Amino acid sequence: MILEPTTPTSPADKAMQLEWHYGAHNYHPVPVVLSRGEGVFVWDVEEKRYFDFLSAYSAVSQGHCHPRIINAMIRQAQQLTLTSRAFYNDKTGICEKYLCDYFGYDKVLLMNSGAEGGETALKLTRKWAYKVKGIPQNQAKTVYAAGNFWGRTLAAISSSTDPSSTNDFGPLLPGYIIIPYNDLNALEDTFKREPNIAGFMIEPIQGEAGVVVPDEGYLRGVRELCTKYNILFIADEVQTGIGRTGKRIACDHENVKPDLLVLGKALSGGTMPVSAVLTSDEVMLTIKPGEHGSTYGGNPLACAVTMEALQVVEDEKLAENATAMGEIFRARMTTLSQKTDLVKSVRGKGLLNAIVIAERPDLGEETAWEICLKLKDNGLLTKPTHGDKIRFAPPLVINEDQMHEACDIIEKTMLAF
Ligand SMILES: *Cc1c(COP(=O)(O)O)cnc(C)c1O
Repeated sequence: MILEPTTPTSPADKAMQLEWHYGAHNYHPVPVVLSRGEGVFVWDVEEKRYFDFLSAYSAVSQGHCHPRIINAMIRQAQQLTLTSRAFYNDKTGICEKYLCDYFGYDKVLLMNSGAEGGETALKLTRKWAYKVKGIPQNQAKTVYAAGNFWGRTLAAISSSTDPSSTNDFGPLLPGYIIIPYNDLNALEDTFKREPNIAGFMIEPIQGEAGVVVPDEGYLRGVRELCTKYNILFIADEVQTGIGRTGKRIACDHENVKPDLLVLGKALSGGTMPVSAVLTSDEVMLTIKPGEHGSTYGGNPLACAVTMEALQVVEDEKLAENATAMGEIFRARMTTLSQKTDLVKSVRGKGLLNAIVIAERPDLGEETAWEICLKLKDNGLLTKPTHGDKIRFAPPLVINEDQMHEACDIIEKTMLAF
């Protein structure tokens, strides 16, 4: 339940009350009002410092206000920000080449939000189904895994199995099939049964579902089945991509290459919305001029920022750091789980991790939320996902001392709870 803030007594109360009175009530934020960020830290309006262990859902992987990314942004903002794609500009092509070389694809299509990236992948998949695979018009089906999250547009929520995403927003898009996650038998049964399947879209690790890591071999199995049945494998790496799980993309853990790769979030290092779909010529060239696009998609400002944001991940070896720091985190949390019944399990890869919380009888479903409020008081910010899970996903620039200090805060908070 969201309670209306009381009469403002502090700058923080004032800020929260303004949002309450004038903004839509579509979020339930942790009651902290931030005004500054640097690296792994953010500061509230009273200059209290916090570890940011959410990183804007992994968008700020390079750390808050990374100087190189901010400088690239300022430089480009003083030159040219937006032309629309009615005209060429001197940055878009360079960025497109950079992305294709970096991720190993023929072509890229730039959009803005992650949801638009997913939707673009879906539209490409349907086009390919009709133009290349030969599925009869309007018959193409796409398959998704239960627990998926890829945004809030109607196309995205149409695959959702979370009632709070879909309630009273119908009618949803047709042509969707939902199967269990991490279940290759269910996938093959579906591919065998249904003749008009064009694509299968999954997150290599389900983020919003609470950091659900599939069994080793699942992604390889998905790749093999998609190839066998001539179905496009779409990897939604909006949250898992760009170093977050310890590899360039999470599919690299099993050395599989998706047919379509969707990226977003950290693509711009937390400065502006940038998303991208990478794929082959065969798929990308099914879309002709005038058939898809976005006013801001591929704008020169986004392109300058994106190249710098990716180069920072390389130069600072952030994927490697995610692997090393993630191991420390999970080791510390596993030790903690032996000291308290509150921590049921610890899971994740690289720096995308979650702990599953045992509900305290007096608090029930609110247990994880109450823990997050205490973590905030003790100087570490994160938020529960799906009730009993708390996600821990700090910027990838976190160092060893900072990781231990943060783990000390988590341990102290849990043991005192
Ligand atoms: C956040 C997210 C999206 C949607 O991104 P937006 O920019 O919020 O639209 C899509 N897929 C995954 C896996 C995500 O975590």
